[in-house]
Amino acid sequence: MLDADFFRRWMTAATALVDREAERLTALDSPIGDADHGSNLQRGFTAVAATLEKEAPGTPGAVLTLAGRQLISTVGGASGPLYGTLLRRTGKALGDAAEVSAEQLAEALRTGVDAVRALGGAQPGDKTMVDALVPAVDALAESFAAARTAADEGARATTPLQARKGRASYLGERSIGHQDPGATSAALLFAALEEAAGE
Ligand code: ADP
Ligand code: MG
Ligand code: MG
Repeated sequence: MLDADFFRRWMTAATALVDREAERLTALDSPIGDADHGSNLQRGFTAVAATLEKEAPGTPGAVLTLAGRQLISTVGGASGPLYGTLLRRTGKALGDAAEVSAEQLAEALRTGVDAVRALGGAQPGDKTMVDALVPAVDALAESFAAARTAADEGARATTPLQARKGRASYLGERSIGHQDPGATSAALLFAALEEAAGE
């Protein structure tokens, strides 16, 4: 079973990975965006880590809803409300249980990803974070490691796609040939989840 401590470890691991990969995320956002994805998420997750430490929420659902709220209030770009919605809606779906199973987390994350799709209007194949999130959540039924691999593969598979949502879509065909920054950071979230699970 996964308790609040597990979810705090997940967010701490995500913060560390975002810190480590911030320059790369910003570099990916340079040819097809406005070169701020790494700094956006770094600011957001730094705030998440600080708030979780200060408030120490006691349930998995409370950890994720608090983290989501922080992302929404500190990240100016498109990714803030989208990741914020992902975590908030996932947290809400977990309710106020003290511990949840991996299956319950997978189900809750599905609700969160559906909320991201509803908010941003992106379908799989539109070259966004959705292209990593959807296969990752599908694979989570198998294991945390499988979800991480699926997210990585989903992120890499955005390279040949033409963007249909977000800033990159303004470039039309010129968005082809670049990996999507948001799909890349979504894969980091699942790498952090695997780390938290100790797999
Ligand atoms: P901004 O584009 O406002 O500068 P970021 O650079 O932080 O925001 O985030 C860009 C990422 O957000 C994109 O790479 C993409 O994955 C994701 N994104 C943008 N718009 C959407 C959308 N409508 N639906 C899903 N994801 C989106
Ligand atoms: Mg950007
Ligand atoms: Mg921006």
